[in-house]
Amino acid sequence: MDAAASSSATITCAKPGCGAQTTLAEATYIDGCGHICPDCAGPLPAWWDDITAPAADPTTVHAKVASTA
Ligand SMILES: [Zn+2]
Repeated sequence: MDAAASSSATITCAKPGCGAQTTLAEATYIDGCGHICPDCAGPLPAWWDDITAPAADPTTVHAKVASTA
């Protein structure tokens, strides 16, 4: 349940001049920048799901944490 709570946490878009608030589940993380809102992220390339799905899936993250505990 902790993972679900964190994925619904509200963040502020990291793009300068935007400042929109969105949830971690909706946001896109840019390495070295931060989380940006869906409007700033725009249409994602077809390969985006392949690289974000493992990290964005709370169940997967939780499973990894549990296995190392
Ligand atoms: Zn934004």
